[in-house]
Order: sequence, then structure tokens, then C-alpha cells
Amino acid sequence: MVESNPNEIVIVKSEDTKINSVDFNNLMFGRVFTDHMFVCDFENGKWQTPKIMPYQPMTIEPSARVFHYGQAVFEGMKAYKDDDGKVFLFRPNENYQRINKSAKRLAMPEFPEAYFFEGLKTLLQLDNEWIKPGLGNSLYIRPFVIATEPAIAASPAEAYRFMIICSPAKAYYNKPVRVLFAEKYSRSANGGVGFAKAAGNYASQFYPTSLAQKKGFDQIIWTDASTHKYLEEAGTMNVFFRIEDKLITAPNNDRILDGVTRKSVIQIAKDLGIDCEVRNVSVSEIKEAAKNGALKEIFGAGTAAVISPVSDFEHAGEIFKLPENEDSYAKLFKEKLTHIQHNLAEDKHDWRYEVK
Ligand SMILES: *Cc1c(COP(=O)(O)O)cnc(C)c1O
Repeated sequence: MVESNPNEIVIVKSEDTKINSVDFNNLMFGRVFTDHMFVCDFENGKWQTPKIMPYQPMTIEPSARVFHYGQAVFEGMKAYKDDDGKVFLFRPNENYQRINKSAKRLAMPEFPEAYFFEGLKTLLQLDNEWIKPGLGNSLYIRPFVIATEPAIAASPAEAYRFMIICSPAKAYYNKPVRVLFAEKYSRSANGGVGFAKAAGNYASQFYPTSLAQKKGFDQIIWTDASTHKYLEEAGTMNVFFRIEDKLITAPNNDRILDGVTRKSVIQIAKDLGIDCEVRNVSVSEIKEAAKNGALKEIFGAGTAAVISPVSDFEHAGEIFKLPENEDSYAKLFKEKLTHIQHNLAEDKHDWRYEVK
């Protein structure tokens, strides 16, 4: 069935649904996708009519530039449903702005705002049943752009595809992670693409992370590329340190991804009267604080895991164990954030965006 709606999105509905074959209580992250996907091609210098169609494989020529040069950017966001069946996104304009910032750095065309929001809304309406209510349930949304032009000259492509796919997610209890402070490898460098959600940023972390995993760690906390003296990001998350009752997190720069969760944590800290310093965090100060007992917590912050507490860290062969706190900030911020996202708490900064 093909319908056209007033916003020009062509909709081809799926004839059946896969939803009954999905066990929503045992979801592995990012393995199952909803019935529909959003597709919009950039050709002849402009974005063409967007389309929503059944989720399916697609045909791309082997010479498409994305396969050779990694010209690709992405986003990660979530939709939440409250007990009345209302669906919300969390600060989606931040993701919209950021995918275009990333695209610009990768010499890709910006995507129109109306298409992004209409595409998201229409897709979520069609796949509404996939968004389960209740804290801990969400629909992970993955917008991304790839260079599709079949040409392997090392220059920016002239054809792209913008897509959105969705995957139901379940937040299980996140076990505190063991982390290694990076001493040799780097995630990003000055003047590079660290601030962009460029696909290649992840590929380059896999190998050093796998070495850390062989040593029994879950993640790496990345340090600055030139001196390895300052702590910057945790794997795929921003990172916070709690010394006594004060929070510290690194300032944004061109090596750090400007996370929506990070900036929300900073704002919530302000609202709660918790002191949060945004400044360089040195490895030596954190080790010192761990030694004298002032270091209470380290946690990562990002859309997928929300808040991910750290149990211990290693640097230069020394292992430090973090204490267990009755009044954990990790727990507090996770609760504050998820309650706003699920329409269970007041939203004084207008972060919720209702999909209707
Ligand atoms: C996406 C991402 C984050 C987290 O950003 P959120 O907007 O909070 O999800 C942090 N670091 C890196 C490297 C990322 O790619």
C-alpha cells in the first residue's frame, strides 16, 4: 500500500509485523529492528523525496565511497512511552544539530530539519507498538548518513543516503565496569574528528578496547592524545568524576563528543545544587584522590546506557577500587534522567518532545 502524506513522505507500509516474534524481556542491544525504516537520498545537489518503507536489506554498489573511505556519520537517540501511551523523545533538536555538525566535518550535506522531525514522527507512529511503556524500556533510534556514490576517487561523494532505523532496547541493571586509563592509544586528536559522531571513531577504538578486555577490563577511559595526562572520554560515553561531593568533567573540545546526556547531567547537578566543575581532569589528581579516599565515584554518561558506574580503574600497573556509596550520584542522576524521559518527573527545561 503506497500513501503520500502532506509532508511529502512517501509511505510504503509493511504487510505484516515481526513484533510477535520478539521477546521484549530478553533483548540484546541493537539486534532486532522494527517493521519500518526511513530513507532519503541526496542526488543532483539536493535531498529527494523521503520514504518510509519496510525494514529490509538494500543494494549499494561495492564502489560506494562509504565502503572505502568511511564517509559516514550517525546519531543515537531514544523514544520513551509513558503509562498513558504518550511517546516522547529527549532533546531531539540536540541530535538534529549534532548530525549536521558531524556531517559538515565529514564534508557531507546537511539534512533539512523538517525532514528529520517529520521522518522521525511518522516512523515512530508507524512503529508505535514497538515502544514499550515502563522505566527501562525504550526504542533506540539510529539516524545515519552514508556516502553512496559509486566512485572510488578519494574525494567527497556527490550522492548520500540518510536513514533512520529503530531497535527496541531494555535497560538491564548495569553492572559497574572496570576501566583502563589509556597510556598508549588515543581515540581522537586535536584538529581531528573526535567531536563528530563519525563512524570511524568507533572502528579505531575496537582494537585497543579488545586488548584492554583481554586484560580483564570492560572499557578504556581515553586520555588526551598529546600527553596522556588528562582524562577525556569513556569508550562511547562522556565521563564524570566525583571527588568528595563535587563532580568534575572535561570541557568540550575537538577531541570530545558533546554528549546530550553529559550536558543534561551538568544541568541537573546545577538544579540540585551539586557543584560541577567543567575543566581538565588530570590522571594524577584522580589517582591522588583515590589514594587519599576523596574519590567517591567515576561514571560514564550516554544515551544507550544512561549512566554507567565504574568499579575500578587501572593506570600504569596500579589498580584502584572505588568505594560503594549509599548516596551514589550515578544512581541519583540515572533516576533523575530516566524519570524526566518517561514523563514521571517535572520537565522544567523543556527537554521532552512529545511525538504526536
Ligand atoms: C554518542 C557519544 C557519546 C554520548 O552522547 P549522548 O548524546 O549522551 O548519547 C559520548 N561519547 C562518544 C564518543 C559518543 O559517540
